[in-house]
Amino acid sequence: MNRLKDKVVIITGAGSGQGATEARLFAAEGAKLILTDINAEAGEQVAREIGDQAIFVKHDVSREADWQQVVAAALDKFGRVDVLINNAGIYAQGRFQEADVESFDRFFEVNARGTFLGMKAVQEPMLKAGGGSIVNISSLVGTRGMANAFSYSTSKWMVRGISKCAAVDLAESNIRVNAILPGLIDTPMIRVNKPEFLEAFTQSIPAKRLGTTEDIAHAALYLASDESAYIMGAEIAVCGAVGA
Ligand code: NAP
Repeated sequence: MNRLKDKVVIITGAGSGQGATEARLFAAEGAKLILTDINAEAGEQVAREIGDQAIFVKHDVSREADWQQVVAAALDKFGRVDVLINNAGIYAQGRFQEADVESFDRFFEVNARGTFLGMKAVQEPMLKAGGGSIVNISSLVGTRGMANAFSYSTSKWMVRGISKCAAVDLAESNIRVNAILPGLIDTPMIRVNKPEFLEAFTQSIPAKRLGTTEDIAHAALYLASDESAYIMGAEIAVCGAVGA
């Protein structure tokens, strides 16, 4: 309890999967929350369930103007920003052979540019607050060549690069930037894969199970909290040893 007491936290993609679980866990740890999602119905429901500690803002992370509104809402309601969880993302299968400019750009707009825009938007309030913690959700597929996920995988490589490079530049301002690399996590996102694929993949995981949203949320909680005060530019793989 209270590991995030009085911290003001923005979580993107908070209407579903990992973001929704992070929202509930962080609320239980005392955080004040700005929950955002492109899916307003889902995001509003999570915020309603949490109550006074949370507000919801509809948000497309790929749009700079939307980010200004999110930060303005955070400052208006809670007066500061301490933590950003850059969690929203899109996934689809697709090999290099089928990738076109439009789909390639869309993955970069949401997964990579969205991450960058979020970091730019919170920079000023975090400087004013004397520091902050930014947690970017990359993926284990951003560490290797991944079959049949060309645009997704390459966008997640970029999230790692953004995190590492910004971590070095922002360290002197006590703004910590770290990344989480989830393995295969049981959320709506992975349901586009065929059940046979998921079953076969699960058997190949050394831990012999899919990750849960709680597995990721607890890693995010640690990186968001002051317990990780000297952790900067790090990556935590939460993957049941797939990446070991
Ligand atoms: P999820 O359940 O699909 O949640 C993602 C949320 O982000 C959804 O509510 C989605 O809305 C929202 N979103 C999509 N595009 C958006 C945009 N442009 N602006 C704002 N919100 C947007 O997926 P998840 O598994 O929790 O994914 C969370 C993060 O973990 C993502 O960055 C994902 O790439 C990463 N990740 C997931 C896995 C996995 O196995 N699940 C593995 C590695 C990394 P819609 O549903 O309306 O699209």
